[in-house]
Amino acid sequence: MSKVKAIQRSVAMAESGLVEMPKPLEQLREDEVERKQCICRVMTHALRHLTGEFVGSGFEWLLPVIFSKTTDPLWPDPGASIEKRIEVEIYGETARATQSMIVHKMVACSLVQPRLFILSPNVRIEKKERASSGAHAYEFTQLDFEVRNATSREIRSLVEKVLSGLVSNVKSCLSEELIYLGRNDDLAVPPIPFRLYDRRELEHEYGRDWETQFARGICNPTWVTNIPREFYDFEDLEEGTWDNYDLLLPKYGEVLSGARREWEYSKLVRKMRRDNVRQENYEILLKLARERRLKPSAGGGIGIERLVSWVVGAKHIGETQLFPKIPGLVYDL
Ligand code: AMP
Ligand code: MG
Repeated sequence: MSKVKAIQRSVAMAESGLVEMPKPLEQLREDEVERKQCICRVMTHALRHLTGEFVGSGFEWLLPVIFSKTTDPLWPDPGASIEKRIEVEIYGETARATQSMIVHKMVACSLVQPRLFILSPNVRIEKKERASSGAHAYEFTQLDFEVRNATSREIRSLVEKVLSGLVSNVKSCLSEELIYLGRNDDLAVPPIPFRLYDRRELEHEYGRDWETQFARGICNPTWVTNIPREFYDFEDLEEGTWDNYDLLLPKYGEVLSGARREWEYSKLVRKMRRDNVRQENYEILLKLARERRLKPSAGGGIGIERLVSWVVGAKHIGETQLFPKIPGLVYDL
């Protein structure tokens, strides 16, 4: 199919409100292979930039884990929609596929590396309906990082510098690719500091679906703070406020979640009880907190495929994956 026809087809799909599902590699037409190659070059550049910035800022780069007894509960999080959790018996023990390395990060940051990051594969079997959101894959990668004794503001400043630098870099080094992808004119280097809103303001203005509505209207990456969610994000129980943050990208929505973390034993237990989170799945975290070996920290996780989707203007996050992992569609590779 010619490039013009491919574009016409995408426009028709977009007008009908349908999102075209990314295909497996062996089914790509010539023009689609070329598009994939451009996206791959942006991905390579993004990974090099992000990892370079973190290493350059004194972070140690750890390798990820896939199976552990403990993983992120992803609960309660208003954004989570998990159909199934992957648990397998190995060596007579129940191990869980990594949903995120939050607990590993908190432990590693407390005990060994005060500044760390990981390119961490996350397995989240999202509900099938999420295929059409264009923003969900059932396997994706987070650049997950954590800093001992950091404040939320310090983490946000670091992220702003890294992301603004990334766009500037891609624009100067990969302008041909951006032109081919039709993204060169629209993609602007985001000015620092990014704007910051309290979730309560947005809820007041847009109601429960604030995230989607708000992301549609912004022109630059924007922070939202104070979002009720999992036990490990720091909460002021008296004020009822949360010292956490999400970064939203225009149209694409959430690309990063992060927070200052809880470290006190009694608070962790109290929150787990409140949220019906099984304490036996977090034994080491609780033991370290009880022994006061868990340290205050703050950090975040950047969804790499979502970040690159925004940079390249992808219609579906699966376009940024060589082997798309689309909810409900299990390909051979
Ligand atoms: P979370 O731990 O749910 O806050 O996720 C951290 C980041 O990972 C999000 O901000 C997204 O960028 C990314 N992410 C979360 N779920 C998915 C998914 N199903 N597919 C792709 N990226 C995701
Ligand atoms: Mg999140």
